[in-house]
Amino acid sequence: MPRFYTSAVHAGRQDFRELCVHAPPLDLSTTYPVDDLATGTASFDALVAGEAEAGNPIYARLHNPTVARTERAIAELEGTDACVAFGSGMAALTAVLMERRQHGGHVLVVRPLYGTSDHLLASGLCGLEAEFVEAGDIGARLRADTTLVVIETPANPTLALVDIAAVVAAAGDVPVLVDSTFATPVLQNPASLGATYVLHSATKFLGGHGDVIAGVVCCDDDHARPLRTVRAATGALLHPLAAYLLHRGLPTLALRVERAQANAGEVARRLERHPAVAAVHYPGLGNVRNAHLVGSQMRGAGALIAFEMKEGKAAAAAVMRGVRIITPAVSLGSVDSLIQHPAGLTHRVVDAAAQDANGITPGLLRLSVGIEHVEDLWEDLAQALDAAADTGGVTELRARA
Ligand SMILES: *Cc1c(COP(=O)(O)O)cnc(C)c1O
Repeated sequence: MPRFYTSAVHAGRQDFRELCVHAPPLDLSTTYPVDDLATGTASFDALVAGEAEAGNPIYARLHNPTVARTERAIAELEGTDACVAFGSGMAALTAVLMERRQHGGHVLVVRPLYGTSDHLLASGLCGLEAEFVEAGDIGARLRADTTLVVIETPANPTLALVDIAAVVAAAGDVPVLVDSTFATPVLQNPASLGATYVLHSATKFLGGHGDVIAGVVCCDDDHARPLRTVRAATGALLHPLAAYLLHRGLPTLALRVERAQANAGEVARRLERHPAVAAVHYPGLGNVRNAHLVGSQMRGAGALIAFEMKEGKAAAAAVMRGVRIITPAVSLGSVDSLIQHPAGLTHRVVDAAAQDANGITPGLLRLSVGIEHVEDLWEDLAQALDAAADTGGVTELRARA
């Protein structure tokens, strides 16, 4: 098996010489000619049953060769048999929940989670009763109808880590889904620790350039087949052009993550010393839950930082207003740096008490560090922090008056 840097460049491209191409073919067909009805019917049956491919793709909701190529590449990087791609990270999670619903009605969930994942689970929209628990209580809360355990590590937005192997052990026969979006396959491989489903919002680091919305689930063939069946039935497809762009980003994945991570480590250390900042949460500083997993479960600390402004929400808003190189926007994992306010944006849909209990405070900002020069990033952030320190307190007082 080639090493990661090599796989990242060559995954999903192994048949190029045979095809005599140097870039992946982009197949935009919605339908495919069926000359022989008997083989067409066999292909149709195989795809509806969730096979990864068949002699004839039949119809693009059942199969698309460009999407399948990207899936093979991501499965290779994640170290799983299969990968099933969806139109977004949320569509990917929904497909897993719909499939698990057929096996039981109860799901155990460890907070914090990406805000919309929390909302989807808490709302019961997919027909599952979600019970939010501490990771250490999973064994005790399992029921006969528990069909899934959901964790996210590092967790959005606080960067708390969850011990995947410990959760897998506690869950016993119940499948564990790990949202590994923040880690990417560069930094951790949950399936190698026993996770059944590895979910990525490929919108983030895998795409990496802020121009693709996509989600993937990496798992073994037996768990992939029913997910393809759900995808074919619900139409939660990844468009082939999006799959093409996603594949286009993979060769630089390790380079991007490593550079962004190096920048993040430096920015996190400097943030800790800034007088306007009350606290910095970064796995590499050893100050998030289970930070000891950096170096074992995780091969690095990642490129996301959360930090709290001493002067609360007004100062956080002032930082978002003040940055020039860093973009004040939701999302993460792009080549460029992004900063956002979880309580005001991504995590608004989370129950207020759960926000408090999980450290989603009014002064919290989440910074997704990009691959720019670290000195430019720091200068930009420092001037925004200085400006916020000058005005933040005053604005806060005005807001209260
Ligand atoms: C963005 C994100 C999602 C949702 O993915 P979309 O592609 O936006 O649907 C899920 N989990 C995490 C950790 C995320 O950051």
